[in-house]
Amino acid sequence: MSGTGQAADRQAIIDACRDMNASGLNQGTSGNVSVRHGASMLITPSATPYDAMTPDMIAEMPLDAGAEDGAWTGPRKPSTEWRFHRDILRARPEIGAVVHAHPPYCTTLAVARRPIPACHYMIAAFGGNDVRCAGYATYGTAALSALALDALTDRTACLLANHGMIALGETLDKAMWRAVELETIARQYYQSLLIGGPVLLDDAAIAETMAGFGSYGLAAKR
Ligand code: 13P
Ligand code: ZN
Repeated sequence: MSGTGQAADRQAIIDACRDMNASGLNQGTSGNVSVRHGASMLITPSATPYDAMTPDMIAEMPLDAGAEDGAWTGPRKPSTEWRFHRDILRARPEIGAVVHAHPPYCTTLAVARRPIPACHYMIAAFGGNDVRCAGYATYGTAALSALALDALTDRTACLLANHGMIALGETLDKAMWRAVELETIARQYYQSLLIGGPVLLDDAAIAETMAGFGSYGLAAKR
């Protein structure tokens, strides 16, 4: 470990994981979190209970294209989902943190392979008028990473078919905020389907909301 910044990032990752499980956003050792740190990423270790996780257990992986595929340092193997964390951080320089979880309502929609439409103005928090559902591929594979990257085009979140969700943030705080907002809108959309289905907002309404987000709270904070 080098420098207080990295120590703080390691602890922040653990705090985020514990928050995810305490709030019901995730369960068990499902889910994983990464944070960009210079030319590398810090990522949760695989299959490690969050209560037992200590800062030294967070793995570090290089992000540069020339690095050996899957190279890592740490006492424990990185998350099996390191590929999509790495590929997102490589492809999206504005993104500083990636959160993956299996929240109940996001995953219910993902099991049904239903994207989230513009059923609430908060859909704008994810960059457009919907949140897509990526196609299915086995967890941890390059195929899943490619599907996720595609579903994340011009967006900061997606669902993963028969699996869960991914939320992105310029910071870890913002990625966690989006993860909570995504589960909230997933629940609202699901519940609206039970009472006849939502009335959807048009593109002009979403564009207006996105413009307003330029100055609104965490939505605006980088
Ligand atoms: P890891 O424990 O390897 O991070 O995997 C959990 C998961 O959610 C896989 O998709
Ligand atoms: Zn998963």
